[in-house]
Amino acid sequence: MSQYWSELVKGLSPYVPGEQPQIPGLVKLNTNESPFGPSPKAIEAVRLAAADTLRLYPDPQSMRLREALADYHKVTPAEVFVGNGSDEVLAHAFAALLKQPRPLLFPDVTYSFYPVYCRLLGINHETIPLDAEMRVNVSDYLGRGGAIIIANPNAPTGIALARAEIARLARERADVPVVMDEAYVDFGGESAIPLIGDHPNLLVVQTMSKSRALAGLRVGYAIGQPDLIEALTRVKDSFNSYPLGRPAQAGALASLADEAYFQETRAQIMQNRASLTASLTRLGFEVLPSAANFVFARHPKHSGQAVAAALRQRAVLIRHFSGPRIADFVRITIGSEAELMRLTDALAEVLAAPGN
Ligand code: PMP
Repeated sequence: MSQYWSELVKGLSPYVPGEQPQIPGLVKLNTNESPFGPSPKAIEAVRLAAADTLRLYPDPQSMRLREALADYHKVTPAEVFVGNGSDEVLAHAFAALLKQPRPLLFPDVTYSFYPVYCRLLGINHETIPLDAEMRVNVSDYLGRGGAIIIANPNAPTGIALARAEIARLARERADVPVVMDEAYVDFGGESAIPLIGDHPNLLVVQTMSKSRALAGLRVGYAIGQPDLIEALTRVKDSFNSYPLGRPAQAGALASLADEAYFQETRAQIMQNRASLTASLTRLGFEVLPSAANFVFARHPKHSGQAVAAALRQRAVLIRHFSGPRIADFVRITIGSEAELMRLTDALAEVLAAPGN
């Protein structure tokens, strides 16, 4: 704390991302990164963008990328917004759409960045408990509160909501903006993008960080009717005109063009998720049904914190969250087959060791 801080900064409680330590031989399954590299074509495009043209500002509208995303998702470029990772796109959505007179609604267990944006932007919010099976129940969001944001699949549970349920939510709450955060949707969820034509209040946010293995490039986007996109653009142009540099725009474009690589790698992750779920179940864990690139699991005899700490000593990083309903659980990112083998071997050792 310093005398130079603004009142706003004194009151913040920032988001804490998963750690990125430099431990040799580390198996890193704590931040939902992809175990595979990005498409080789994306890497090549980023390399080509590292050229003399870097002295020039990039296209502030990211027009080519927005056109490609529009093509890909069967919408128009006026229905696409891009930003520096979906975290930035979400921040703009909070400012542009989710700050309403009545409190913003989101689940009690969800992406822990949401309350952080609320604090930064002075947004009142109310959390809605997940049901007994840790699921989002759309009925709980009807007839109450202001705008709504839901991660689908939810984090850190990994549980997905069916498109028909999202349509019901958008229809029944046509009085407010509804934002779906689809960071993990490519691993088995149903995207709400096909619904935007019928729902002027629906904004869908996606990222290239997970299923396209481009977390380091920082590219996220939102899809919704032009009025909603214009609201985001107004905030962006009051904040940073050039959120995506030339390498990011070029790399994202090339990734989008490599459909075969995208399909292959996401299928491999879903396959690895099935085998990890089976191994964890054999080890006595209860594993929530995941449609994401991670699983959320708990062991009846070992606390989440103890499991995570013991694995860390064996150079395997997973994530533990302390919090009322989730402290028993650990969240494990779906890694490569070799990484998951290291994880399950280490886990078997940890569970067998006396005192754990
Ligand atoms: N939404 C959810 C639910 C997430 O877990 C994450 C990753 N931490 C993000 C959005 C942001 O991802 P990025 O900024 O890399 O697009």
